[in-house]
Amino acid sequence: MTEQLNLTEMAGEGLLENPYLLVALFDQHDILRAANPPFCETYGGRTDGSMSWQQLMRENYEQQRGVRIRADDIDAWIRSAYSRRGKEAFRGFEADLTDGRWIWMTETLLPNRWMLCIGMDITHQRQEGRELRHARDLALREASTDVLTGISNRRAMMRLLQQRVQESQEVNAPLHIALIDIDHFKAVNDTYGHATGDQVLIHFSRTLQACIRREDACGRVGGEEFLLLLPGLETTQAQQICERILERLRKSRPLPALPDFRYSASVGLTRLHVHTEVNHLLALADDALYTAKRSGRDRVVLRLPDDVTSL
Ligand code: GH3
Ligand code: MG
Ligand code: MG
Repeated sequence: MTEQLNLTEMAGEGLLENPYLLVALFDQHDILRAANPPFCETYGGRTDGSMSWQQLMRENYEQQRGVRIRADDIDAWIRSAYSRRGKEAFRGFEADLTDGRWIWMTETLLPNRWMLCIGMDITHQRQEGRELRHARDLALREASTDVLTGISNRRAMMRLLQQRVQESQEVNAPLHIALIDIDHFKAVNDTYGHATGDQVLIHFSRTLQACIRREDACGRVGGEEFLLLLPGLETTQAQQICERILERLRKSRPLPALPDFRYSASVGLTRLHVHTEVNHLLALADDALYTAKRSGRDRVVLRLPDDVTSL
């Protein structure tokens, strides 16, 4: 019988102290739960359950430590980075640190929905072509990001939608999608100006990200139209997330200069069935959205594939 090998015993006690390895664990809410000393020394993270990934990035930016963040607007940078985080079972990317080191960072989703991050010091490896690879990575990110709001754009969302539909159909797991359209948005522009309209779009993007889970995705797919992908949930849970978004909007006063200003949105929600095609799924969500608009706005309407035969 093969004996079970203990990794720490085999590698020695110093495994997690190795300065070339930065190891961290984030829970499903993206709270930093554990990290090795090299990770903490580099990023300055706290592991007492009081620090989210977003806070960590913000502190890194303010204190010029950890990951090098090339941005004038840290909020936009975080929205953009967060819209790519936790969408794949595994991903890896090259990143540079403010102290001049380069790391190969990997993010692995675990069965309990936590995320294991391992950064490996590659300062002295793969130096050739690094600038070019970095420029390519930035260009790819830009191509999938909505310029105004920083969240995923239409192109990125359509690609992810295809992928989610395929994944869900393969293992017969539930998938919900929601189309969300801001109500009477033209009037916002007409009354307060286009710049104020833009501010509302940014506020809406931030609200969406705050209301969904890390494994969900949201993006701007039209002027004031957004798409949500909610994998692995029952319909009532998906409905709750959508209702939570609308409730949050009702309570929001997004424009400090106009303290009475508020806005709402309408949601068309649908669920993937085994043989549903992507276009049909989008048509169902659009049909539900249209019904939400017609029946008074500021509401969630659910349309299941069985409800409609003519689409
Ligand atoms: P409804 O409740 O039926 O959705 O009405 P609505 O006024 O929201 O819808 P409509 O389609 O008539 O108007 C959408 C407006 O969104 C018109 C367009 O000028 C505005 N818009 C589109 N993209 C942008 C943008 O990037 N910034 C700003 N400020 N406005 C935008
Ligand atoms: Mg609208
Ligand atoms: Mg619209």
